[in-house]
Amino acid sequence: QAKKSGRNTVLPYKQEYSSSLEKKIFLEEELRSAIRDEELMLYYQPIIDLSTEKIVGCEALLRWIDRAGKFVSPVDFIPVAEESGLIYELGNWINATAFKQLKLWQTLHTDMKYISVNVSPHQLQNADFVKDIQRLLDIHNVDPRHIQLEITEGTFLQESLNTQSQLRILGEMGFRLAIDDFGTGYSSLAYLKRFAVDVIKIDRSFVMDLEDDPADRDIVKAIIAMTTSLGFDTLVEGVETREQSLIVGALGCGYGQGYLYGKPTFADDYAEQYIGLKSVANR
Ligand code: C2E
Ligand code: MG
Ligand code: MG
Ligand code: MG
Repeated sequence: QAKKSGRNTVLPYKQEYSSSLEKKIFLEEELRSAIRDEELMLYYQPIIDLSTEKIVGCEALLRWIDRAGKFVSPVDFIPVAEESGLIYELGNWINATAFKQLKLWQTLHTDMKYISVNVSPHQLQNADFVKDIQRLLDIHNVDPRHIQLEITEGTFLQESLNTQSQLRILGEMGFRLAIDDFGTGYSSLAYLKRFAVDVIKIDRSFVMDLEDDPADRDIVKAIIAMTTSLGFDTLVEGVETREQSLIVGALGCGYGQGYLYGKPTFADDYAEQYIGLKSVANR
């Protein structure tokens, strides 16, 4: 069992960590080299218009397959990236990769309306975020109206001036704004009228037991009623069964995302499955 990891200590690969701190330190080092060695990639998951059952766009989700071939969950390493500050650079890489992908798919004449990327609150606290994302739009020749930024409720409520002003500017620049994991964050809804929000993503936790739990059904119904009257689109995350899809559709939800419609998958596979393109590499 490796004890305190000194600078150059090589930790055994599949170890039990004696503490969560030790695990964090190990993960941070691994993440640094993962970024350097390009072990990270984006997967894409389709987003469906429930009224037409057509795919309108996709969400980019970060994946890390480490050099042992082991899958590391973003739920584990995104917080590590946030605490260590690595998230800023990583976020720029995520944006660049998604923009490049969108451009490629658009030049191949697909009708993808947007790619949705997750933005960590830590990225928006950095005063350079707007400048950097503008630069990436320019480099990849992408229109911000085809990019959706997924931001959690808590981010909108942060008192950081950088966050508040940059969120406003991003809306003015024409980016689509989505509220991610809606319903799990804070209860203040005042931010909904202050920012140019396009879509509310209702968290998966309300969808999971929708068939059996009348309370969840009432919550989803109330969220849809409220957001619709405020003029936002609604999307439910984590739809896994036909019945869930029918329920949320009947409640007036506009969009859906989940394993029922398609799992996140790597770019070429996505293109082949969902936009009818053979491997881009072969074109
Ligand atoms: P999220 O943004 O709410 O993403 C949705 C998560 O639900 C994804 O997990 C997706 O794979 C999963 N999911 C989608 N449909 C279903 C379903 O039908 N059933 C179930 N059980 N799960 C479903 P994933 O990819 O593991 O990502 C987890 C979280 O990690 C994301 O939640 C997001 O908060 C964060 N994350 C992922 N990629 C990025 C990224 O590029 N940047 C940042 N900042 N955070 C990211
Ligand atoms: Mg998301
Ligand atoms: Mg989400
Ligand atoms: Mg979520």
